[in-house]
Amino acid sequence: MHPFTELNPEQRAAVEHAPEAGPLLVVAGAGSGKTMTLAARVAWLVLQGADPQRLLLLTFSRRAAGEMAHRACRLLHEALRLPSTTAPPVLPWCGTFHSVAARLLREEAPHIGLAPGFTVLDRTDAQDLLAMTRQALGLSESERRFPLAGTCLAIHSRTVNTREPLSVLVETQWPWCRDHIVDLQRLFAAYGEAKLQQQSLDFDDLLLAWWHLMQVPEMAARIGGRFDHVLVDEVQDVNRLQADITQALKPHGRGLTAVGDDAQSIYAFRGADVRHILDWPQRFSPPARVLTLERNYRSTPGILQASNAVIAEAHERFAKRLWTERPPAGRPRLVTVVDEAAQARGVADAVLAQREAGLKLKRQAVLFRTSTHSAPLELELARRGIPFVKYGGLRFLEAAHVKDVLAVLRWADNPASQLAALRAARLVPGMGPASVRRLLGHAGPLAAFKPPAAAAQAWTALVALMAQLRGEAAAWPDDLTRVLAWYRPHLERLYEDARVRAADLEQLAHMAAGQRSRERFVTELTLDPPEASSNEAGPPLRDEDYLILSTIHSAKGQEWNAVHVLNVVDGCLPADLATGRSAEIEEERRLLYVAMTRARDELTLWVPQRFHVTQQRAWGDRHLYALRSRFVPDTLLSHFEVVQPARANAVEGPADTGTAPLGIDLAARLRHEWAPRLGGGPPPPVPDRGQNPV
Ligand code: ATP
Ligand code: MG
Repeated sequence: MHPFTELNPEQRAAVEHAPEAGPLLVVAGAGSGKTMTLAARVAWLVLQGADPQRLLLLTFSRRAAGEMAHRACRLLHEALRLPSTTAPPVLPWCGTFHSVAARLLREEAPHIGLAPGFTVLDRTDAQDLLAMTRQALGLSESERRFPLAGTCLAIHSRTVNTREPLSVLVETQWPWCRDHIVDLQRLFAAYGEAKLQQQSLDFDDLLLAWWHLMQVPEMAARIGGRFDHVLVDEVQDVNRLQADITQALKPHGRGLTAVGDDAQSIYAFRGADVRHILDWPQRFSPPARVLTLERNYRSTPGILQASNAVIAEAHERFAKRLWTERPPAGRPRLVTVVDEAAQARGVADAVLAQREAGLKLKRQAVLFRTSTHSAPLELELARRGIPFVKYGGLRFLEAAHVKDVLAVLRWADNPASQLAALRAARLVPGMGPASVRRLLGHAGPLAAFKPPAAAAQAWTALVALMAQLRGEAAAWPDDLTRVLAWYRPHLERLYEDARVRAADLEQLAHMAAGQRSRERFVTELTLDPPEASSNEAGPPLRDEDYLILSTIHSAKGQEWNAVHVLNVVDGCLPADLATGRSAEIEEERRLLYVAMTRARDELTLWVPQRFHVTQQRAWGDRHLYALRSRFVPDTLLSHFEVVQPARANAVEGPADTGTAPLGIDLAARLRHEWAPRLGGGPPPPVPDRGQNPV
């Protein structure tokens, strides 16, 4: 019997594509089984004799990697008719580009002049270091306002990932920084030096370093030779560096498989470019075989038609026909409500009604463009005691107390890391800025450093801890237990809500138990932190039921039975009011498409008409009025069940146009809000840009 009876003929052709025949690219729409096909291919390859240790699977997040390994193992179990008690085969090389890069670099460290304990800087660390460098160069005081550290980091990151010259990028993307190009170059050079001195690499460096390894023929042969097969999911979101790395791993393309959907490309701000997927086959000679999948298994016909209609308005795309055999059900709902509070109540009502009907909270998700959009809903859920987990919000790692603990671990691994030293030393009461500066300049052993008298006792405890962590007796995860014991009194002294924060640290301890070494733990956590932040309804226990809240970016590749999309209004989706460049607007359209195609059975788009805006200035609080997103124009309304608020509750606003949404230019209003803070300068990048999930 064929093990993969579930597969349709196109999927099977992809699964059983002979590796010797050259590279394979599967381009297909959402929910057509790309990820499933990739997992089946892994299982098929193993059945054909491939060694699971020699398979490299590049996915978008650790969650996706785990899911992929799980699916492949399940198929293998079925194919081999193994009893379910047999341990699944392990796929040790399954992860994100960044985490695989970090692992390879640690292994190669001795050959490339890198300390094996090098530190991986997360975005906030990188921004801190860049800010320190910026200040050291005196750029923060220059007459003409120099771009802020966050902007500098974005420019830096984009240059690295797209491999475009700085001057070209600044001219096209950040034209208001064009007068600073020389200083930016100076800053980036100094930032690079600081990182090297401190044996630290930021996210982009990981890819860049991997790319450089692949430029050395022997090294490329060695690394490429470790893997018989390289499989890439979500290939539409690879950037230039990642595309080059993949090709360098398998220059002839044999053993290479990639799957993706050009209509779901949503990471241009990190240098991804749809062209990479469109041009990918031509990178090889002979070119890659391209297969498509057209049957959608995920969504009801109504959801599929509405999503197809939204993406059909896009200016440039591969035309794809998606069809489904799922029985017809209702159309997705497009619900207009008076304001965000009504939206929050409406979502909570709908979620509870679904749960009453037997649908677990975990099978329902609420998606939004920007992390802050869910704030009113979070309050409402907390008020009603509905547990939820939020993905893509405040990163676990950005929480100060988690950073404190990690800094101590990082400093133990990498004594050269000034950022880690700074953070750890500042925790010691009595260590003022001057003493910390003195510490950073201190060359000898740590024990020889003389702290100020007021800090003496607490300092000794930290020195003793570091000696333990760096000494013979260091062991994992005991090291973390030691650090937490040391940190506990500081936590209580520093934070009023120490009890809430302590729960995060327990979670940290829990995760530590699953990792083999301290370095691996810290690196993995930095690259792909758990995204759940504790919430006011209390962090849900692991096997409890909870609603999923997620940014659209973090929802990639996933599916739920019921999906709500918040704030489908201009100004939120598309968010990009600042520049309004057409390529960016198109990316926002694809984001809505990604959000809608996550739904299996029920989909609701919410259109709040009024937003409450708290003013920093003297004018007091105000309301902004919003228009339904331009991505759902009147011509598409027939695809939706349109629900309007009762007339009596309709919002009173300056341009009431009956039942139609209010005709107000939110963009102009927001620009007006921003203008005073900008001193008449060019419009800022959209404020939420930097918060996109990693
Ligand atoms: P996305 O573009 O959102 O990443 P995808 O193309 O990767 O979607 P999958 O997530 O692999 O799609 O599959 C979507 C759903 O369809 C999953 O629930 C999967 O189990 C199911 N599915 C895929 N192929 C088949 C099949 N041949 N028979 C039954 N179900 C299938
Ligand atoms: Mg997928």
